Amino acid sequence: MATNRTFTMLKPDAIENGHMGKIIDMIIDAGFAVKAMKYTQLSEEQAKKFYEVHAERPFYGELVEYMTSGPIVAAILEKDNAVEDFRTLIGATNPAEAAEGTVRKLYAESIGRNAVHGSDSDENAEIEGNFHFSAAEIH
Ligand code: UDP
Ligand code: MG
Repeated sequence: MATNRTFTMLKPDAIENGHMGKIIDMIIDAGFAVKAMKYTQLSEEQAKKFYEVHAERPFYGELVEYMTSGPIVAAILEKDNAVEDFRTLIGATNPAEAAEGTVRKLYAESIGRNAVHGSDSDENAEIEGNFHFSAAEIH
């Protein structure tokens, strides 16, 4: 995957609360092109592996439970400066600290149930995209 790509998930709270379409619109309107997209539900094994880096954190168990609690939308997105620009679009992890107009400010419920994931580096964007999509599914 090229370095002008990032990986996202619309998390179970966003889907449950009916924000899927509005968030996808915000992403497209911000200039991201969809290179792969899938409506799916994570198994416990997948969620544990995806968030392995947080395994020692106190919220890990709750995070895995939440991320497997309902469907998600996983996607690979392309834009110049994709990783950084997407993190700007979604806002801070804690919606209470997220800037006005960001996805998390508008739609996140809490620091845990925060509507959307965005990769934090080009390297992780590639790892995370390949975790969810086979080469044939990526355009
Ligand atoms: N999280 C949580 N409590 C915290 C910090 C994070 O439940 O105190 C959850 C939240 O869903 C967050 C995810 O763990 O999005 C990954 O945390 P990270 O610090 O990587 O935040 P992100 O990169 O998603 O902004
Ligand atoms: Mg992160």
